[in-house]
Amino acid sequence: MVVEQRLCNVRRPWRMDQNPFGSPSPAPAYNSAMSCLKTDISALQQFVLDHPRLVVITGAGISASSGIPTYRDRDGTWKHSAPITHQEFVTDPERRQRYWSRSLLGWPMVRDAKPNMAHRALSQLERLGHIDLLVTQNVDRLHQRAGSAKVVDLHGRIDQVRCMVCDQTSGRERVQQQLLRDNPHHSHKLSTPRPDGDAEVAAEIIEALIVPTCERCDGALIPDVVFFGGSVPKMRVAKCNEAVASADAVLAVGSSLQVFSGYRFCRLAGQLGKPLAIINPGSTRADPLSSLKLLSDCEPLLQAFAANISDAGRPIPCVHGSPS
Ligand SMILES: [Zn+2]
Repeated sequence: MVVEQRLCNVRRPWRMDQNPFGSPSPAPAYNSAMSCLKTDISALQQFVLDHPRLVVITGAGISASSGIPTYRDRDGTWKHSAPITHQEFVTDPERRQRYWSRSLLGWPMVRDAKPNMAHRALSQLERLGHIDLLVTQNVDRLHQRAGSAKVVDLHGRIDQVRCMVCDQTSGRERVQQQLLRDNPHHSHKLSTPRPDGDAEVAAEIIEALIVPTCERCDGALIPDVVFFGGSVPKMRVAKCNEAVASADAVLAVGSSLQVFSGYRFCRLAGQLGKPLAIINPGSTRADPLSSLKLLSDCEPLLQAFAANISDAGRPIPCVHGSPS
């Protein structure tokens, strides 16, 4: 049952003591949004006070302000054509050629992305003992780069590739250098980046691409990620299930939870009687399971929340410098 649901939209850049409109008389919409954000901060504080040991599930929404676009809009529908499936990648050389052509252009966007304040806030929450496990559906490794250590990359990591023949792993950047060396004329202009380091590329560019191969056996390479239609390794799922079972509650951040691999942990929380809080501006598949739904953007909300935690790890009411 959703007990709280409000429209909250405060965009970056934002600070507690800062009026993003830059005027002495903030616009009514700003006042409304800030009031809503303040209410969401209080609700999240109470949730963590009541449930101090969390399993956190994150999705593409948390990396959006790091410059990595989300796959789905606020209604949870595809923004672009559906991404490549596991079956397509392993069975169709032309689809692999298409993937690598797009990845050549999309990878630098992921490689060069920086963690944002939401990533850093979750890292701080982990250090304060509030996060037993962070389960991310993102493959960008921004949580680890923000300092989080208890992370399960549910769908793998885009900064590694694996040989489909000999199983040797290597760094994605090494493959990038191979791609650039073998495809010196590949255009860098006709692309739109996507969340998994993919990008939209014209057909004639795709057909001309020389695909990268394993340096040891010349076999085909596959990114070390779980594509749509692929299976998350059972050991990985088991670790997440155990964490949900021992945590006080689950907090989902920036995910539409449309994909079952992430949704299942929300469903498990419900089956175990664990409360579920969701931070997401749009609707999610798990909304009917949630006990708290917060519609603020995750970055200002988590940043403000983390800034108002005592050294003892307890959330404290934000009075000074709070938005009014
Ligand atoms: Zn190999």
